[in-house]
Amino acid sequence: MICKKTLSALLCAASVIILCSCTDRNTENETDLFAMDTYMTLKAYGENSKSALEKASAKIRELEELLSVTDENSEIFGLNSADGKRTEISDDTSFLIKRSLEINKSTNAAFDITLYPVSREWGFTTGDYKVPAQTRLDELLKSVGSENIILDTNDNSVSLLNGANIDLGGIAKGYAGKCAAEILKNEGIKSAILNMGGNVQTIGAKPDGSSWIVGIQDPTDSHELVGTVEVIDKAVVTSGGYERYFEDEAGNTYWHILDPKTGRPAKTDILSVTVIGIDGTTCDALSTSLFVMGIDSACGYLRSNREYDAVMVSDDKTLYITQGITESFSVSDKFSGYKIVTV
Ligand code: ADP
Ligand code: MG
Repeated sequence: MICKKTLSALLCAASVIILCSCTDRNTENETDLFAMDTYMTLKAYGENSKSALEKASAKIRELEELLSVTDENSEIFGLNSADGKRTEISDDTSFLIKRSLEINKSTNAAFDITLYPVSREWGFTTGDYKVPAQTRLDELLKSVGSENIILDTNDNSVSLLNGANIDLGGIAKGYAGKCAAEILKNEGIKSAILNMGGNVQTIGAKPDGSSWIVGIQDPTDSHELVGTVEVIDKAVVTSGGYERYFEDEAGNTYWHILDPKTGRPAKTDILSVTVIGIDGTTCDALSTSLFVMGIDSACGYLRSNREYDAVMVSDDKTLYITQGITESFSVSDKFSGYKIVTV
């Protein structure tokens, strides 16, 4: 028979254990880093969240070194300088090229990683901006097209034909978020949020079990929100013309998302696209693609690919929201006057 004293001691021990596990579960750690041309804030909860975040950051840095188009030591730089010769590549690069080719196909070539010579000409990768002559763009567009990428996933090698060069800038951050999330999960982290400049990757739910509430930036004012979306274990990725752009002397704006058909900044009726889904890599490539496609084609794509949700802001004061997130999306006061169309 357990005496009263022993019982109270046991209860006491139990509550200490509960308190300890609560504290451990709620231990918050944060790492800030500048990588992939953006400021990133990685926040994780749990006992070993500090060391887990270090491992996740190291992977992001490793991917940056591998995938940068401008770093002369990167794998992509080597590939782009190989003059069409067959080049061995890492598993990460091979996977990303493969996925980019699949998305190129499914988006009717709105997503095209061979646009690099064109975006370099505009100065988007160097910051040395200029508006190229259309004749020059037409010349450069001759090497654009996924048929110029010969990828062999059996031996992880690739050849770029016809003077093609590639840039994984439209998909790399989403992949980095996904890899970082996998590392954190393998380290036992149940709750984390990675903010990677326009890309948000969540791991599990908040430590108290509730959903993460992710803000969607107003494409016309970086201090305002279009609204918020509640997610668990998903990526929320936004693309818009406001992210990186320059203006010419006449005040025309040119942004970094290009239309592969024209070689010019994609000008459609979309101001910004946010894609929400479990695979951050695809969400990233799709946010870029849907921006290029424009509202009608983007809605068509989303209707036939229901595993991805989206919030799109159009230039006629309309918000397009997919069926899957009508419950979890909340519109901000500023946008409450916008027409809402459910896709
Ligand atoms: P950000 O990287 O600024 O968050 P995105 O994910 O939309 O924005 O990616 C834009 C980048 O993708 C550009 O900087 C360029 O490297 C690349 N890019 C631009 N247009 C396209 C396109 N049509 N298809 C694939 N990649 C593109
Ligand atoms: Mg993208």
